[in-house]
Amino acid sequence: MTETPVVDLDGVTFGYTQTPVIEDISITVDAGEYAAVVGPNGSGKSTLMKLALGLLSPDDGSARLFGDPAASFDDGQRLGYVAQHASATKAMPITVREVVKMGRFPHVGFSGLSTTDWEIVDRALERVGMSAFADRRITQLSGGQRQRAFIARALAGEAELLVLDEPTVGVDAESVASFYDLLDLLSAEGITILLIEHDLSAVTDHVDRVICLNRTVYFDGPAETFVQSDALDRAFGAVSVK
Ligand code: ADP
Repeated sequence: MTETPVVDLDGVTFGYTQTPVIEDISITVDAGEYAAVVGPNGSGKSTLMKLALGLLSPDDGSARLFGDPAASFDDGQRLGYVAQHASATKAMPITVREVVKMGRFPHVGFSGLSTTDWEIVDRALERVGMSAFADRRITQLSGGQRQRAFIARALAGEAELLVLDEPTVGVDAESVASFYDLLDLLSAEGITILLIEHDLSAVTDHVDRVICLNRTVYFDGPAETFVQSDALDRAFGAVSVK
């Protein structure tokens, strides 16, 4: 029996106006894959991710998430989304543990967290190396630490798919390296990871698969092959970078 892909885009075309920014893209991501979507600014990476997650609907073609139409998908706990540098948290006067605790909300209903739920929260903090910061306010963390906290929230929610949108923008080089080490670890544990990345040097040493995009797919294959190919030059040459 073949397993249902986590993400399944089939002949997807989408435009905010008459002009498509995504054109006839077919991509499947299977459970356990570790893939990066790369491409120049304005090449459609975020749009593609929104289509995959059902936040936008294709003009043409179909988008499925865990086998269901992405637009009507409502099992949010199966995916964890880590936004770019999580700037929305600036006004959140809450601790790291409280952020991670939110990952349990879909599982617990009104009864509150059980001892087991708290154990899952603490284990998630441990997995991302943030136990020592559990009681620190999220606003008092560095960019890299904050992203770890958001990954911990996804882990506490038992997410099967982790979607990260340029997670290391504004994060210092050393923290970027250890952040990717963490993703490698989680990938080895079996979670499916889909990453949007502008910084290519960060990903090609880590991910298994690179999807290089500029309105259409210029490359889709192993990271090693991508590095040796001319896909990047072609993709970057095809657009006037914003
Ligand atoms: P990337 O993530 O690769 O930078 P985007 O998916 O954000 O690319 O954008 C792809 C194209 O769609 C760009 O030309 C961008 O200007 C345009 N675009 C993105 N979001 C919107 C929007 N909400 N309304 C209109 N155009 C948009």
